[in-house]
Amino acid sequence: MAGIYIHIPFCKTRCIYCDFYSTTHSELKQRYIHALCQELQNRKDYLKGEAVETVYFGGGTPSQLTEEDFIQIFNTIKEICGLENAIEITLEANPDDLTEEYVSMLQTLPFNRISMGIQTFDDPTLKLLNRRHNSAQATTAIERCRQADFHNISIDLIYGLPGETDKRWKHDLQQAVGLNVEHISAYHLTYEKGTPIYEMLQTCHIREVDEESSVRFFTTLTETLVENGYEHYEISNFCKPGMYSRHNTSYWRGIPYLGCGPSAHSFNRETREWNVSSLTTYISSIEEGHRSYEIEKLDEAARYNEYIMTGLRTQWGVSLEHLGQVFGNKLLKYCRDMAAPHLESGKLNIHNNHLYFTRNGVFVSDDILSDLMYVEE
Ligand code: SF4
Repeated sequence: MAGIYIHIPFCKTRCIYCDFYSTTHSELKQRYIHALCQELQNRKDYLKGEAVETVYFGGGTPSQLTEEDFIQIFNTIKEICGLENAIEITLEANPDDLTEEYVSMLQTLPFNRISMGIQTFDDPTLKLLNRRHNSAQATTAIERCRQADFHNISIDLIYGLPGETDKRWKHDLQQAVGLNVEHISAYHLTYEKGTPIYEMLQTCHIREVDEESSVRFFTTLTETLVENGYEHYEISNFCKPGMYSRHNTSYWRGIPYLGCGPSAHSFNRETREWNVSSLTTYISSIEEGHRSYEIEKLDEAARYNEYIMTGLRTQWGVSLEHLGQVFGNKLLKYCRDMAAPHLESGKLNIHNNHLYFTRNGVFVSDDILSDLMYVEE
């Protein structure tokens, strides 16, 4: 069981909060598609013949590609590993790209899941963020995807945005719930150094929401979505029963994946690799017959840390039995010892020999995770 991630690094315009690798240089697109297919070919043995169950086109803005671009990429994937086991094939899309014509074209391709970056339904805030769509376009795009028989739609929301109030956040959530989508990802805004929004914060053009409000927004988020039939299966992710993102879940459960394109990460249980975050360097290196990337060999401590970090974020928690079997008694004892004060304070819980965050624990998850990390002396 494995996944493939395809990074499409083109955006028409840049959103002010974004620190994903993308560029507005779409004139390089044809050379890029060619290099990407070449990378897929070159690395066809990376997954060691494991069945590919998920394919994810992320970005950037994959909905900037044309039918011909997609066909080229899908043909390459079919050639190197087949698509017969792929139960989830996701396209990240911007609402304004999803015209009637574009959605009809998508229907003819192997996609069965659409993930839409909506972020908020508040039009002035969408403008501030330099998003290209407005709330009406977002709603229409979802209706179009429904009419085109997409039965697995996910939307992304951001909260804690500048000027966020309880009223506005509740309105966003009501709108989201009203769309009856299968999956909702909701992230708190982070001010990443180097982004325009970070500069706006530094120069006092906007204000960060206070911690108390952030906690309240998170509580409203979980309560509203759970009341409306969504499972809270990962700190930032919610789904209708059984409709969790198989691709993202594989990241959290240690399933191998091949990531192609600039900045894409790959993981094969022993190593983690990441491609260079530069489109021009990526293309020229592939054209010259090599790949520009870095690699980290995952030793036991790194694998333990990853298992804790990813497992605890999910509703499946960390299996203490698995921990003992795979990492031995020393690391199991370490985990139990470090978890003890948090178990006592009610921030962690053990149920069926699995370690979980409690609701109170989720609010301070980063601190608890850092306590549980193992650092070799
Ligand atoms: S469209 Fe997505 S990837 Fe592109 S700048 Fe906006 S948030 Fe970033």
